Amino acid sequence: MEFINTIPYPLIAVAIFMFGLAIGSFANVCIYRLPKKESVVFPVSHCTACSAPVRPFDNIPVISYLILGGKCRDCKEGISVIYPIIEAITALLLLAGFFKFGLTFDFLVYTVVAPTLVIITAIDIEHQIIPDVITLPGIVLGLAVGSYTIGYIDSFLGFLVGGGLFYLLAVLSNGGMGGGDIKYIAAAGALVGWQKVLLIIFIGAFLGSFVGLFQIAVQKKSRKSLIPFGPFLAVATLITLFYGNLLIKLYIDNLAS
Ligand SMILES: [Zn+2]
Repeated sequence: MEFINTIPYPLIAVAIFMFGLAIGSFANVCIYRLPKKESVVFPVSHCTACSAPVRPFDNIPVISYLILGGKCRDCKEGISVIYPIIEAITALLLLAGFFKFGLTFDFLVYTVVAPTLVIITAIDIEHQIIPDVITLPGIVLGLAVGSYTIGYIDSFLGFLVGGGLFYLLAVLSNGGMGGGDIKYIAAAGALVGWQKVLLIIFIGAFLGSFVGLFQIAVQKKSRKSLIPFGPFLAVATLITLFYGNLLIKLYIDNLAS
């Protein structure tokens, strides 16, 4: 790893941004195919309108979208602007993670977690589900990584507290809380431990109720229309990964004084 110290910092940042664009491109494939239970590896990307395979030189994240003017080269059908946005968001998140964590084990974990949160957010908004194919491996990975970074007791407590609380909510609310949300928060809890999973739930509920009230006021949405909780949990998880230690310290300091 010594040689990394000889590479200029801005160069590493640029490389991570480009890597983030590529991961974002793969995230798009996952967002589109996972809910349909399709393979994310085969076949190669193709136009959703005319099924023409995307040429390798038309598959460059963000750039290709701009060069093609947001249209398929073959059928000229519009390509959703969501694709380059997902790529840009993923790249920016990875860059922010690099600035926060540096080239550490935490950053390595983050390079998996952050794009996964982008995928979960997009799929939950579109389909109101968080697929098992993400959450179940997430629980295994969360327990494995959490055991290494925060200890297996805290990791397992996080899994229990997060999953248990949401399971209880699901029972009490009579299906108001989805199974995907329960598995998601169990995975997140295993990764970050019992204190931070409570923080994720608190921030998620705060953001959710805030946006929910805003939606009801502005769009005159009924209270019953479903607002997926996954995106709020994903944002809350990101906030906790970045500022969890600080927020918990502030909370404890204020409680003690
Ligand atoms: Zn086409």
